[in-house]
Amino acid sequence: MKIAVLSGKGGTGKTTVSTSLSALNKNITLIDSDVEEPNASIFLKPIVTEEEIMFVEYPMVDSEKCTLCGKCGELCKFNAIIPAKNTVLVFKESCHACGGCELVCPTGAITYEKREIGKIIKGKTIFDNYMEYGLLNVGELSGINIIKALKNNTNDRELVIIDSPPGASCATVAAVEDSDFAIVVTEPTPFGVSDMKMVVEMLREMKIPFGVFVNKADLGDMEVYDYCREENIEILGEIPFDKDIATYYSKGEVFSNFIPHYKEVFENLLQLVTGGKNGYK
Ligand code: SF4
Ligand code: SF4
Repeated sequence: MKIAVLSGKGGTGKTTVSTSLSALNKNITLIDSDVEEPNASIFLKPIVTEEEIMFVEYPMVDSEKCTLCGKCGELCKFNAIIPAKNTVLVFKESCHACGGCELVCPTGAITYEKREIGKIIKGKTIFDNYMEYGLLNVGELSGINIIKALKNNTNDRELVIIDSPPGASCATVAAVEDSDFAIVVTEPTPFGVSDMKMVVEMLREMKIPFGVFVNKADLGDMEVYDYCREENIEILGEIPFDKDIATYYSKGEVFSNFIPHYKEVFENLLQLVTGGKNGYK
Protein backbone atom coordinates (compact mmCIF):
# COMPACT_ATOMS: atom_id res chain seq x y z
CA MET A 1 0.00 0.00 0.00
CA LYS A 2 1.28 3.48 -0.88
CA ILE A 3 0.29 6.63 1.03
CA ALA A 4 1.49 9.96 -0.39
CA VAL A 5 1.93 12.96 1.89
CA LEU A 6 1.89 16.27 0.05
CA SER A 7 1.19 19.97 0.45
CA GLY A 8 0.52 23.04 -1.65
CA LYS A 9 3.83 24.62 -0.69
CA GLY A 10 7.01 23.80 1.20
CA GLY A 11 7.28 24.30 4.96
CA THR A 12 3.67 23.30 5.66
CA GLY A 13 4.51 20.24 7.74
CA LYS A 14 4.47 17.33 5.32
CA THR A 15 7.79 15.96 6.58
CA THR A 16 6.49 16.31 10.14
CA VAL A 17 3.50 14.14 9.20
CA SER A 18 5.53 11.64 7.09
CA THR A 19 8.17 11.05 9.73
CA SER A 20 5.65 10.84 12.58
CA LEU A 21 3.73 8.18 10.66
CA SER A 22 6.80 6.15 9.76
CA ALA A 23 8.06 6.20 13.35
CA LEU A 24 4.95 4.28 14.46
CA ASN A 25 5.77 0.89 12.99
CA LYS A 26 8.98 -0.75 11.80
CA ASN A 27 7.16 -2.31 8.85
CA ILE A 28 6.52 1.14 7.38
CA THR A 29 8.96 2.27 4.68
CA LEU A 30 9.46 5.97 4.07
CA ILE A 31 10.68 7.41 0.80
CA ASP A 32 11.59 11.07 0.65
CA SER A 33 10.88 12.01 -2.96
CA ASP A 34 11.38 15.75 -2.43
CA VAL A 35 14.69 15.24 -4.24
CA GLU A 36 15.60 18.93 -4.45
CA GLU A 37 15.37 19.34 -0.69
CA PRO A 38 15.05 16.00 1.10
CA ASN A 39 14.94 16.45 4.88
CA ALA A 40 13.18 13.38 6.35
CA SER A 41 16.61 11.86 7.01
CA ILE A 42 17.34 14.67 9.49
CA PHE A 43 14.59 13.24 11.71
CA LEU A 44 14.86 9.51 10.95
CA LYS A 45 18.69 9.52 11.03
CA PRO A 46 19.26 6.45 8.86
CA ILE A 47 22.44 4.40 9.02
CA VAL A 48 23.30 4.37 5.33
CA THR A 49 23.57 0.87 3.90
CA GLU A 50 23.74 1.65 0.18
CA GLU A 51 24.04 4.49 -2.31
CA GLU A 52 22.83 4.20 -5.90
CA ILE A 53 24.18 6.70 -8.42
CA MET A 54 21.48 7.82 -10.85
CA PHE A 55 22.13 8.45 -14.53
CA VAL A 56 20.06 9.69 -17.44
CA GLU A 57 20.77 9.49 -21.12
CA TYR A 58 21.10 12.45 -23.43
CA PRO A 59 21.58 12.62 -27.22
CA MET A 60 24.90 13.10 -28.98
CA VAL A 61 24.84 14.17 -32.62
CA ASP A 62 27.40 12.91 -35.14
CA SER A 63 27.99 15.98 -37.31
CA GLU A 64 29.38 13.79 -40.10
CA LYS A 65 26.01 12.03 -40.45
CA CYS A 66 23.70 14.97 -39.61
CA THR A 67 22.08 16.68 -42.59
CA LEU A 68 20.50 19.44 -40.43
CA CYS A 69 17.06 18.30 -41.57
CA GLY A 70 15.45 19.69 -38.38
CA LYS A 71 13.28 16.66 -37.57
CA CYS A 72 14.74 16.11 -34.08
CA GLY A 73 14.04 19.74 -33.11
CA GLU A 74 10.48 19.56 -34.44
CA LEU A 75 9.79 16.50 -32.31
CA CYS A 76 11.36 17.56 -29.01
CA LYS A 77 8.72 19.33 -26.93
CA PHE A 78 11.30 20.22 -24.26
CA ASN A 79 13.53 22.25 -26.63
CA ALA A 80 16.42 20.07 -25.56
CA ILE A 81 17.71 19.55 -29.11
CA ILE A 82 17.71 22.47 -31.54
CA PRO A 83 19.09 22.26 -35.07
CA ALA A 84 20.73 25.62 -35.82
CA LYS A 85 22.28 26.92 -39.05
CA ASN A 86 25.52 24.92 -38.92
CA THR A 87 25.12 22.51 -36.03
CA VAL A 88 22.63 20.84 -33.70
CA LEU A 89 22.58 22.23 -30.17
CA VAL A 90 21.85 19.83 -27.30
CA PHE A 91 20.74 21.10 -23.89
CA LYS A 92 21.47 18.10 -21.68
CA GLU A 93 19.71 19.35 -18.55
CA SER A 94 16.43 19.89 -20.45
CA CYS A 95 16.41 16.41 -22.02
CA HIS A 96 13.80 14.01 -20.61
CA ALA A 97 15.47 10.99 -22.26
CA CYS A 98 12.32 10.01 -24.17
CA GLY A 99 14.34 8.60 -27.08
CA GLY A 100 12.15 10.30 -29.69
CA CYS A 101 14.85 12.25 -31.49
CA GLU A 102 16.84 9.10 -32.24
CA LEU A 103 13.73 7.48 -33.71
CA VAL A 104 12.95 10.32 -36.10
CA CYS A 105 16.52 10.99 -37.23
CA PRO A 106 16.67 9.77 -40.85
CA THR A 107 20.46 9.41 -40.97
CA GLY A 108 21.21 7.64 -37.68
CA ALA A 109 23.21 10.63 -36.47
CA ILE A 110 21.90 10.43 -32.90
CA THR A 111 23.26 8.13 -30.18
CA TYR A 112 22.99 8.42 -26.41
CA GLU A 113 25.48 9.03 -23.63
CA LYS A 114 24.90 8.75 -19.90
CA ARG A 115 25.42 11.45 -17.32
CA GLU A 116 25.04 11.49 -13.55
CA ILE A 117 22.07 13.47 -12.17
CA GLY A 118 22.06 12.50 -8.50
CA LYS A 119 21.77 9.55 -6.20
CA ILE A 120 19.51 7.45 -4.03
CA ILE A 121 20.50 6.81 -0.43
CA LYS A 122 19.15 3.77 1.43
CA GLY A 123 19.30 2.94 5.10
CA LYS A 124 17.83 1.74 8.40
CA THR A 125 16.32 4.47 10.59
CA ILE A 126 16.54 4.94 14.36
CA PHE A 127 13.03 3.47 14.47
CA ASP A 128 14.36 0.28 12.86
CA ASN A 129 12.49 0.80 9.61
CA TYR A 130 13.76 1.14 6.08
CA MET A 131 14.00 4.44 4.24
CA GLU A 132 15.26 5.74 0.92
CA TYR A 133 15.72 9.28 -0.24
CA GLY A 134 16.79 10.90 -3.47
CA LEU A 135 19.22 13.74 -3.98
CA LEU A 136 19.19 15.69 -7.25
CA ASN A 137 22.49 17.30 -8.28
CA VAL A 138 22.52 21.11 -8.16
CA GLY A 139 21.62 22.59 -11.55
CA GLU A 140 19.56 19.60 -12.73
CA LEU A 141 16.06 20.50 -13.88
CA SER A 142 14.19 17.24 -13.41
CA GLY A 143 14.26 14.71 -10.59
CA ILE A 144 11.51 12.57 -12.09
CA ASN A 145 13.82 9.66 -12.95
CA ILE A 146 15.06 9.56 -9.36
CA ILE A 147 11.48 9.68 -8.01
CA LYS A 148 10.44 6.81 -10.29
CA ALA A 149 13.47 4.76 -9.21
CA LEU A 150 12.65 5.39 -5.51
CA LYS A 151 9.15 4.05 -6.09
CA ASN A 152 10.33 1.05 -8.13
CA ASN A 153 12.87 0.14 -5.44
CA THR A 154 10.12 -0.07 -2.80
CA ASN A 155 7.32 -1.64 -4.85
CA ASP A 156 7.35 -4.85 -2.85
CA ARG A 157 7.21 -3.13 0.56
CA GLU A 158 4.12 -3.61 2.70
CA LEU A 159 3.32 0.03 3.48
CA VAL A 160 5.20 2.93 1.90
CA ILE A 161 4.84 6.55 3.00
CA ILE A 162 5.88 8.91 0.19
CA ASP A 163 7.06 12.33 1.34
CA SER A 164 6.27 14.13 -1.93
CA PRO A 165 7.65 17.34 -3.47
CA PRO A 166 5.45 20.37 -2.65
CA GLY A 167 2.98 21.91 -5.10
CA ALA A 168 1.39 20.33 -8.15
CA SER A 169 4.45 20.02 -10.42
CA CYS A 170 5.46 17.12 -12.71
CA ALA A 171 7.67 15.88 -9.85
CA THR A 172 4.67 15.83 -7.50
CA VAL A 173 2.59 13.93 -10.07
CA ALA A 174 5.41 11.37 -10.44
CA ALA A 175 5.63 10.94 -6.66
CA VAL A 176 1.89 10.65 -6.06
CA GLU A 177 0.99 8.53 -9.12
CA ASP A 178 -0.29 5.03 -8.21
CA SER A 179 -0.78 5.93 -4.54
CA ASP A 180 -3.70 4.29 -2.78
CA PHE A 181 -4.39 7.38 -0.70
CA ALA A 182 -3.01 10.89 -0.24
CA ILE A 183 -2.77 13.08 2.85
CA VAL A 184 -2.80 16.80 2.02
CA VAL A 185 -1.07 18.77 4.77
CA THR A 186 -2.12 22.40 5.11
CA GLU A 187 -2.12 25.36 7.47
CA PRO A 188 -5.29 27.37 8.12
CA THR A 189 -4.07 30.57 6.46
CA PRO A 190 -5.39 32.18 3.23
CA PHE A 191 -2.13 31.25 1.39
CA GLY A 192 -2.26 27.70 2.76
CA VAL A 193 -5.82 27.25 1.53
CA SER A 194 -5.21 28.66 -1.93
CA ASP A 195 -2.11 26.46 -2.44
CA MET A 196 -4.03 23.46 -1.14
CA LYS A 197 -6.78 23.96 -3.75
CA MET A 198 -4.30 23.30 -6.60
CA VAL A 199 -3.25 20.04 -4.98
CA VAL A 200 -6.88 19.03 -4.43
CA GLU A 201 -7.62 19.63 -8.14
CA MET A 202 -4.58 17.57 -9.12
CA LEU A 203 -5.60 14.63 -6.91
CA ARG A 204 -9.17 14.71 -8.21
CA GLU A 205 -7.84 14.70 -11.78
CA MET A 206 -5.64 11.72 -10.90
CA LYS A 207 -8.56 9.99 -9.15
CA ILE A 208 -6.57 9.41 -5.96
CA PRO A 209 -8.66 9.39 -2.75
CA PHE A 210 -7.42 11.89 -0.20
CA GLY A 211 -8.09 13.76 3.02
CA VAL A 212 -6.64 16.80 4.77
CA PHE A 213 -4.40 17.07 7.82
CA VAL A 214 -4.23 20.53 9.44
CA ASN A 215 -0.93 21.69 10.93
CA LYS A 216 -0.81 24.66 13.36
CA ALA A 217 -4.57 24.29 13.55
CA ASP A 218 -5.09 27.06 16.10
CA LEU A 219 -3.41 29.75 13.99
CA GLY A 220 -5.17 31.57 11.15
CA ASP A 221 -8.86 31.38 10.37
CA MET A 222 -11.65 28.92 9.52
CA GLU A 223 -11.29 29.09 5.72
CA VAL A 224 -9.66 25.65 5.39
CA TYR A 225 -12.45 24.06 7.45
CA ASP A 226 -15.18 25.88 5.46
CA TYR A 227 -13.54 24.83 2.18
CA CYS A 228 -13.26 21.18 3.24
CA ARG A 229 -16.90 21.14 4.38
CA GLU A 230 -18.13 22.70 1.11
CA GLU A 231 -15.99 20.32 -0.97
CA ASN A 232 -16.87 17.29 1.14
CA ILE A 233 -13.22 16.63 2.05
CA GLU A 234 -12.53 14.70 5.23
CA ILE A 235 -10.29 16.30 7.87
CA LEU A 236 -8.13 13.38 8.98
CA GLY A 237 -6.50 15.05 11.95
CA GLU A 238 -4.84 18.18 13.24
CA ILE A 239 -2.11 19.41 15.53
CA PRO A 240 -1.91 22.88 17.07
CA PHE A 241 0.97 25.32 17.04
CA ASP A 242 2.95 24.21 20.08
CA LYS A 243 6.36 25.45 21.18
CA ASP A 244 7.27 21.92 22.35
CA ILE A 245 6.75 20.68 18.78
CA ALA A 246 8.92 23.52 17.46
CA THR A 247 11.65 22.70 20.00
CA TYR A 248 11.79 19.01 19.05
CA TYR A 249 11.68 19.99 15.35
CA SER A 250 14.62 22.36 15.75
CA LYS A 251 16.61 19.54 17.38
CA GLY A 252 15.84 17.21 14.46
CA GLU A 253 13.65 14.92 16.58
CA VAL A 254 10.31 13.28 15.72
CA PHE A 255 8.25 15.17 18.31
CA SER A 256 5.37 12.66 18.38
CA ASN A 257 7.79 10.05 19.67
CA PHE A 258 8.24 12.14 22.83
CA ILE A 259 4.71 13.50 23.44
CA PRO A 260 2.15 10.66 23.86
CA HIS A 261 -1.00 12.65 22.99
CA TYR A 262 0.51 13.66 19.63
CA LYS A 263 1.59 10.07 18.97
CA GLU A 264 -2.10 9.17 19.37
CA VAL A 265 -3.03 11.73 16.67
CA PHE A 266 -0.76 9.92 14.20
CA GLU A 267 -1.90 6.47 15.31
CA ASN A 268 -5.46 7.58 14.52
CA LEU A 269 -4.32 9.04 11.19
CA LEU A 270 -2.59 5.78 10.24
CA GLN A 271 -5.69 3.79 11.15
CA LEU A 272 -7.84 6.10 9.02
CA VAL A 273 -5.63 6.06 5.92
CA THR A 274 -4.96 2.32 5.98
CA GLY A 275 -8.62 1.59 6.68
CA GLY A 276 -7.46 -0.25 9.83
CA LYS A 277 -5.78 -2.86 7.60
CA ASN A 278 -2.82 -4.97 8.69
CA GLY A 279 -3.18 -3.85 12.30
CA TYR A 280 -1.19 -0.64 11.75
CA LYS A 281 -1.33 1.65 14.70
S1 SF4 B 1 15.55 12.32 -25.95
FE1 SF4 B 1 13.50 13.27 -26.05
S2 SF4 B 1 13.66 14.99 -24.63
FE2 SF4 B 1 15.77 14.37 -25.07
S3 SF4 B 1 16.38 15.67 -26.74
FE3 SF4 B 1 15.56 13.77 -27.66
S4 SF4 B 1 13.40 14.24 -28.08
FE4 SF4 B 1 14.16 15.79 -26.66
S1 SF4 C 1 17.11 14.60 -37.12
FE1 SF4 C 1 19.18 13.81 -37.33
S2 SF4 C 1 19.85 14.58 -39.30
FE2 SF4 C 1 18.05 15.78 -38.76
S3 SF4 C 1 18.89 17.58 -37.69
FE3 SF4 C 1 18.48 16.07 -36.13
S4 SF4 C 1 20.39 14.96 -35.86
FE4 SF4 C 1 20.55 16.05 -37.81
